Amino acid sequence: MTDAPEIPVRVRPEIAALPAYQQGKQAEADAFKLSSNENPFDPLPGVLDAVHAASALNRYPDATAGRLRHRLAERFGVDDDAVHVAAGSVSILTQLVLATSGPGDEVVFAWRSFEAYPGLAVVAGATSVQVPLTEDARHDLPAMAAAITDRTRAVIVCSPNNPTGPIVTQADFDAFAAMVPSDVLIILDEAYAEFVTDPDAVDGLRVLSARQHPNVVVLRTFSKAYGLAGLRIGYAIGHPRILDAARSTSIPLSVTAHAEEAALASLDQEEELLRRVRIIAERRDRLAVALRAAGWRIPEAQGNFVWLPAGRETLDLAGAFDAAGLIVRPFAGDGIRISVGEEDSVEKVLWIAASVVRDLPEGHSGRGLA
Ligand SMILES: *Cc1c(COP(=O)(O)O)cnc(C)c1O
Repeated sequence: MTDAPEIPVRVRPEIAALPAYQQGKQAEADAFKLSSNENPFDPLPGVLDAVHAASALNRYPDATAGRLRHRLAERFGVDDDAVHVAAGSVSILTQLVLATSGPGDEVVFAWRSFEAYPGLAVVAGATSVQVPLTEDARHDLPAMAAAITDRTRAVIVCSPNNPTGPIVTQADFDAFAAMVPSDVLIILDEAYAEFVTDPDAVDGLRVLSARQHPNVVVLRTFSKAYGLAGLRIGYAIGHPRILDAARSTSIPLSVTAHAEEAALASLDQEEELLRRVRIIAERRDRLAVALRAAGWRIPEAQGNFVWLPAGRETLDLAGAFDAAGLIVRPFAGDGIRISVGEEDSVEKVLWIAASVVRDLPEGHSGRGLA
C-alpha cells in the first residue's frame, strides 16, 4: 500500500515489509461464506451449555488446560506431558518455529501451502525455504528432504495440504522422516485429519505410536471438523521436551476456560461429530466428481475444500463467484479454494464453476479433457 502512512517508530524491517493483515470478506446476509474452511454446522450438542457453565469471567483460566490435555492424552494413549493445548494450532506452529528457528536458520515447507507458514518464519527472524508442489499439487517430499541443510531447524508437512487438497501417504511420510536428520523438527500439520477418507494417508498418531521419530510433532485443531474456529483451540502431540520448548515461547493463559469446556464437550459427541464429518466428506466428493465432469482438472480433495487451479484467470473467476453470492478464497495467479459449506451452496458452486471453466483458454492447466 503506497498511500499508507509511515510507521512512527522503528520496526524490524522484515516486519515492516509484511502486508498489513486483511480480514477475509464478511458474508452478506444471503451469501455463502466458503473462504475460510469453516464448518457449516452449529456447535455440537451440549457445547453451548458447557460454554455457559464455564467458570466466571473474572478468573484466569487453567494455564495448561489440564483437563483437556488429560482427556486427549487418554484418547491417544500418550502421557499428559505429550499433549500441548493452545489458542488454535496456528499458535502452536508459531511457538514451535520460535522455539527452533532464529536468524540464519531455515524452515522448509511446501509451496503453495498454508498461507500462515511464510509469515511465521519471518516473525521468528528465520528464512523460509519453499519447495514447489508437484504437478498434481502434492508435497514433493524427496525435494523437501533435499532442501534440508545444516541450517534447517524445522520442516512443515501439511496433510491434507491447504489449499490444494491432496494428502501425503503414510509410505511417503515414513520414507521422508527417515531422511530428515533426527535433530530437525518435523511438524505434521493435520488440521483436516478428520475429513480424510483415503486409506493410504499418513496418520500422525500412527507415526507417534511407532516411536521411531521423536522429532515429529503432530498438530490438530478443534477449528475445522469440530466447528470451534471462533473459540480458538488446537493441540499438539509429541515429545514432552519439544512441547516444553514450545510452551516457553507462548503467551501465557491464552486458552480460555470457555474454549477448554467447549472442546471437552465436543469430545463427548464423537458419534455426532463423525456423522457430520461424513456428510461434509460426501459433499466434497460430490463436488469434486461434478467439477471434473464439468471440465475442471482438479487435484485430489481430502480436506473440507476443493481447489480450482485457475492460474492467471484466478481473480476474474473469483469475481464471478463473488457476484453470485459465493465468497471463495482466491490466491492471485494460482487458484481458488472453495470450502465445502451448506448443502444449498453445492449446486450454486457447481453452476458457477461449470460456466467459468468454459471461458478458460485452450490448453489452460485447469482444464481437463472433458
Ligand atoms: C485452519 C488451519 C490450521 C488451524 O487453525 P487454528 O484455527 O489456529 O487451529 C492449521 N493449519 C492449517 C493448514 C489450517 O488450514
